[in-house]
Amino acid sequence: MLNVRDLGVAFGVVQPLSGVSFSVSQGETLGIVGESGSGKSLTAMSVMGLLPLIGGRITDGSIEFDGADITALPERAYRKLRGGKIGLITQNPMTSLDPLKKIGPQVDDVAKLHLGLSNADARARTIDILGTLRIPEPALICDRYPHQMSGGMKQRIVIAMALAADPDLLIADEPTTALDVTVQAQIIRLLDDLVKERNLALVLITHDMSVVAQTCDKIVVMYAGRAVEQGPVEEIFDRPRHPYTQALIACIPRGLDDATRLTGIAGTVPTVLNYPKGCPFHPRCPKAEAICATDAPDFSVVGESAAACHFAEVAHAEPA
Ligand code: SF4
Ligand code: MG
Repeated sequence: MLNVRDLGVAFGVVQPLSGVSFSVSQGETLGIVGESGSGKSLTAMSVMGLLPLIGGRITDGSIEFDGADITALPERAYRKLRGGKIGLITQNPMTSLDPLKKIGPQVDDVAKLHLGLSNADARARTIDILGTLRIPEPALICDRYPHQMSGGMKQRIVIAMALAADPDLLIADEPTTALDVTVQAQIIRLLDDLVKERNLALVLITHDMSVVAQTCDKIVVMYAGRAVEQGPVEEIFDRPRHPYTQALIACIPRGLDDATRLTGIAGTVPTVLNYPKGCPFHPRCPKAEAICATDAPDFSVVGESAAACHFAEVAHAEPA
């Protein structure tokens, strides 16, 4: 459904993203994971054709969607895809919802615009979709304004809008970050069900490895604008090869005991203006050696996964 090859993105002379490749098929969830500033959202914006609107451009590689090359699609054509065949779910529902407009018309408009439905048909469809998203009393909800809804309900409305035009691909950028833990779990389960029921392809962008473990079939771990490790989710969790992935997994809280909860990875994420030479992770890497500061590691494939670390192949010669 979506095939991204060797993607590189620049803003003027600054190159925040390079060499990113992944694919996702129908019925499959791909997780893009990393700390903020790793290039996850930029990757999503590239796929959505939003880069030109923020002053960026694709300098390398290609993006293929449903068999067609969309790398250099003009904005006019992209506007049909976005919200149409590609649905977007953002972190903060209030950036996607119009606070001055009732919920029904907001969802109706998507189906009217992209599917050419009449008012009545669009509303029937909206009520149907709200129902499948387990929103109680959908007909009544259509008459409410966003501010009358809870955070979790607002996020369901955003999901309804993303589904209204019957997309093949959903891109969810930190869809649960603004929500409390219980609601997060409900939304994640809902997305998981939608992928299966509607045979959707889902790209789930998150900094949360426990969300990835629950929902994704495969993952791409990003650091400093590069993919540093990728592969099937079980393989990555069982045998993480890259020290950054190992650190992300070690940060997943286990139980409620504060003593076992790690406080994150030491050091800070480099910004695009100071991406380190050599391996971008070397200033923070507990396993760095001299070569890491000078030579950028290539991807090495071990089994079904691949990691960009000089020592990826020996990472599991000894117990992690
Ligand atoms: Fe760490 Fe070196 Fe591997 Fe980079 S290449 S992740 S610095 S061991
Ligand atoms: Mg982001």
